[in-house]
Amino acid sequence: VPAIATIALGSNLGRREENVLRAVAAIAADRVGRPLRTSSLYQTTAVGMPGAPSFVNAVVQVVPLLPPHDLLQRLQAIEARMGRSGGHMQSREIDLDLIAFGDQVLDDPGLTLPHPRFHERAFVLIPLAEIDPAFACPRTGRRIGDLLAAVTGAGGVVRISGRSWIMRS
Ligand code: AMP
Repeated sequence: VPAIATIALGSNLGRREENVLRAVAAIAADRVGRPLRTSSLYQTTAVGMPGAPSFVNAVVQVVPLLPPHDLLQRLQAIEARMGRSGGHMQSREIDLDLIAFGDQVLDDPGLTLPHPRFHERAFVLIPLAEIDPAFACPRTGRRIGDLLAAVTGAGGVVRISGRSWIMRS
């Protein structure tokens, strides 16, 4: 069974929904991975960014076509190309995080797998649970339902569109 890579997308600047859709298309077009499942779009309250516009978030799972470091590098190239203006914890046109790469656990400079904070982010867990209810954290083994039950801020995550926009391969 090929490993599955899980990528979280977010935008809170410009045409947010379009930015997320374009990033999913870029992930396929740039051969980061072959999309398997894409969540609905969610509108979410910006966390830890007082006064910032809300985000549009989604999660996509792909069959990765690159090893983890190269995959993240290509995600960062997409961010740069799409005009990511903000730095860490700032508003941005697009933010792409590698949440997990199969069951790999990695603590390298520049790449931690699974993503070190995904388990505390309702805006990642809720769309991920939608497309992969059997997901378990590769580091702790905790299942997504348990992670979701423990998270705060789930009330700030609202589904805004169904999965009909998905481009299936
Ligand atoms: P941010 O500005 O919050 O998107 O953080 C990006 C930084 O986190 C970059 O320097 C990445 O090298 C680093 N990073 C470490 N692990 C990951 C990961 N799993 N996904 C995305 N970025 C990561």
